[in-house]
Amino acid sequence: MSPGQAQKVKADPRSEAKTGSRVQSICNALRSAILEQALRPGMKLPEDTIGEQFGVSRTLVREALKRLAVEGLIEIKPNRGASVAYPTLDEARDVFEVRRTLERLVVQSLAGRLSQAQITLLETCIQHEDDARDRNGPESIRLAGEFHTLLSGMTGNVLLDRYVQEVCSRCSLILALYGRPHSSECAVNEHRQLVDALRQGDADKAMALMDRHLEDVAARAALAPRGSGDIRDLLAPYALKQGLTKK
Ligand SMILES: [Zn+2]
Repeated sequence: MSPGQAQKVKADPRSEAKTGSRVQSICNALRSAILEQALRPGMKLPEDTIGEQFGVSRTLVREALKRLAVEGLIEIKPNRGASVAYPTLDEARDVFEVRRTLERLVVQSLAGRLSQAQITLLETCIQHEDDARDRNGPESIRLAGEFHTLLSGMTGNVLLDRYVQEVCSRCSLILALYGRPHSSECAVNEHRQLVDALRQGDADKAMALMDRHLEDVAARAALAPRGSGDIRDLLAPYALKQGLTKK
């Protein structure tokens, strides 16, 4: 072995790649568990228990937790460790605002530029959403997010794709916390209308549809109006449900 080869032993790219992909696998497992609400907002995430469960070192778990913290799915507090994030209503509204702007950009850049293969992929995704509609809510939330990240991936804009993925993860957590799945019949139809507008190359229509769609998603999670926090506003929907009216 030449001296040059001996020096390379320390930073074996294969073992680094293996570590990286294991961290990625831990991230994926935790992300799914959070987005499907197996792990609830606020729940503690002890490194040793997770490491034991996944058969990996605490160091790898810590690395995965750090990445998920950047995505906004986890909070890490000094001396208290990691827990599933618990965004406030105000934070939730901010996230949706950013998401709408980013996704307007996505459909603007995709209008009229999708290949037939890409359209087929999007249609398959919508079909899966439709199939999952009658099953559990968490799966619908995840699938509905996938439609949006599939779109952003098609832009070929790596930075935009990363931001949309992150903001969609945050939204899924928020919907798990405050709302209901947005993969109801009307939302699946909204996804279909979006794909139609993109196929027709109508950027303005696609942007307007995306805007309204995400507004509706937020509204279904009761995030749309900047609430006053007034007890009357908070009680209004409950009063309506019980047939109680103001005097
Ligand atoms: Zn959607």
